[in-house]
Amino acid sequence: SKKRDGKNGALLYDPLIQDTTRQRAAIERDIETALDEDWFEAYFQPIVDLGDGHVVGYEALLRLEHPIKGTLPPAEIIKIAEETGAITRIGNRILEKALDNLVQLSEATGDFDAYIAINFSPLQFEQNMPIRLAALAARHGIAPHRIVIEITEATLLHDNPQIRTILDEFNRFGCRIALDDFGTGYSSLSYLNRFPVDIVKIDQSFIRSLSAEEPELQHKSRMLVEGITAISHKMECTVVAEGIETEEQQEILRQFGVELGQGYLFARPQPVRQLIKTLIHSPRRGGSVA
Ligand code: C2E
Ligand code: MG
Ligand code: MG
Ligand code: MG
Repeated sequence: SKKRDGKNGALLYDPLIQDTTRQRAAIERDIETALDEDWFEAYFQPIVDLGDGHVVGYEALLRLEHPIKGTLPPAEIIKIAEETGAITRIGNRILEKALDNLVQLSEATGDFDAYIAINFSPLQFEQNMPIRLAALAARHGIAPHRIVIEITEATLLHDNPQIRTILDEFNRFGCRIALDDFGTGYSSLSYLNRFPVDIVKIDQSFIRSLSAEEPELQHKSRMLVEGITAISHKMECTVVAEGIETEEQQEILRQFGVELGQGYLFARPQPVRQLIKTLIHSPRRGGSVA
């Protein structure tokens, strides 16, 4: 099949190009339909205290629950939504869902302290976002200190002179800032200096190599994780290790003094109705998910 390109009328015969264009168009349509039909959900993944295993918070992770295609992971959706600008509407939807879900979860477990960590895209850093979030939190009866804003280097590199001011304002309202995927960027350490970061999330690639087969890689990544943890603590940040899958990784992280962890070892991201069942059926209400 062939198709006319809008700009110069050239015929495109490359099936690969056509495939990706078509795939992309399909995702763009799915995004719009999902917004209209309310298919976006905020799955929750518990974040646990590595000292005693109790749940201290949850990360909200976007899922598109497509009635035919099933549950779609966020990577592709977010990439395309950032390009089309739909990310701001998706972000607002997820914010709303995440806070709703947190209220439901708190009522079911009796735990009114657990925090909710929400991933923010650079484009969501509009000037009025802090005040809007504060109002939304108030409407849900959620104290601002229970809200963590997760950002990546992409946000701090973004060409928006307001970012620093907006982050400071989130902080002033009592929200905390987490630096996600720490260690993977170009100059991660400098951000600890220049931005009001409260929480450092060590990227899962480092956690995975803690138990690498290759002794040299294993040794070096252990030194690196220990070092990142020590520096983060000196900067008065709490450390979260992402992507913990084994007891061995958990034990090493404990020894390094990492306070919090997240990963399949504890629980996968899941719908809150499902999480509620697990949590209230575990011996300690609102406690461990293990
Ligand atoms: P992230 O914020 O670093 O989230 C952690 C990712 O690691 C999640 O992938 C989670 O499902 C996955 N994960 C957690 N534990 C484990 C583990 O033990 N092993 C492995 N292999 N993976 C684990 P997910 O849900 O596919 O999200 C991917 C990325 O998409 C997120 O990375 C975040 O950057 C972005 N994202 C997710 N939800 C949102 C959202 O609502 N807004 C924005 N802007 N970005 C989001
Ligand atoms: Mg995150
Ligand atoms: Mg993360
Ligand atoms: Mg991450």
